[in-house]
Amino acid sequence: MTTKFLQILIVFYSLSCFGQQITYKHIVDSSAVETNEVMHVFESYIASNPQEKNYSEYWNKEVQTNYVDVDFLASEFQPSLYMGYPIHVLSISSMNGLYQIKAQFSFCKADGTPFVLAIVNYFAKKENGEFKLYNALHVNKQHWKCKTNGMINFYFPGYHDFDFKKAEKLNAFVQRICKNLEVNPTPFDYYFADHFDEVQKLKGIDYYVGMGGESMPSGKASEGKVYCSGLGEYYPHEVFHVQIDEHYPNKHFWVSEGMATFLGGSRGKDLEWHLIKTNAYLKRNPAINLNNLLELDNLDNATAYHYALGGLLVKKVYEKGGWEALKKFMRSGTADSDYYKAIEEQLGIKQTALNAYLRNELEAY
Ligand SMILES: [Zn+2]
Repeated sequence: MTTKFLQILIVFYSLSCFGQQITYKHIVDSSAVETNEVMHVFESYIASNPQEKNYSEYWNKEVQTNYVDVDFLASEFQPSLYMGYPIHVLSISSMNGLYQIKAQFSFCKADGTPFVLAIVNYFAKKENGEFKLYNALHVNKQHWKCKTNGMINFYFPGYHDFDFKKAEKLNAFVQRICKNLEVNPTPFDYYFADHFDEVQKLKGIDYYVGMGGESMPSGKASEGKVYCSGLGEYYPHEVFHVQIDEHYPNKHFWVSEGMATFLGGSRGKDLEWHLIKTNAYLKRNPAINLNNLLELDNLDNATAYHYALGGLLVKKVYEKGGWEALKKFMRSGTADSDYYKAIEEQLGIKQTALNAYLRNELEAY
């Protein structure tokens, strides 16, 4: 997960008091039978507690067969897109029986200014005579190019010339980490473009809170899918997440991000780059206490403590005990106390000594 997504994490649980109500802007054809059916299936879905990500009868067969989380937009926001924001349907349009629903998730703040979490798109189409929902990704990816190389289905915009060398390098990365971590590699879809917002658009996201700023490499992994921008066919960090994470569920967030950064870098820069930056920053800020490192979040918009220091700790564990030690580290528990305990067990460093230890280790960079 990258910084941009972490910023979205900051968006509040507290809105659940709104309930999940739906309103409509003027919908052309709202009295037409099919438009009505589409509105009905969408309303029924929203009323079915989609934040609980249960099996949903309102979705098409293909997505129900192949995925646990049928609605790909749900996990684009934390804890879920469906965290209680009122939903305003902006438009419903159709072409040859394929309906597109454009919905805004927003509320009006006390001072009257609107807060918009996102504007997203769903599709609806008839399946055995009944309208079912489709992810925008399913529809939009048909307009992208696709190349399968090894076990990866690469999807990319028409302007891009496919780089086989980089694709093969990514396949080799998958084979190497899976072998060392004793995981069976599984095929997955890899969506990439030059700019992050092209990928957002592909997923059906027209607007999301945090949009804008300078475009930099970004990525995200979720159930059999990697989305990334700015690095072409080789974005190994997210590939670590999509291949490995589910096989080691009992690990701390910092272990996951540390492993991904140690093995695959972050935002197109290797671990060393992040460590040089972190060392310089910490020297300028001697008051930052790394004994409580889990309380630290982003260093700036290019690096975060869980990449840099998480990666450094993974590296030290690897240097001491190789892949066996890393596998143990990846099974050491999800709680903060588990993480500190694992560091003490594996590296012999007590939590109270972490600040001195890490600052000293960083001097090598
Ligand atoms: Zn990550």
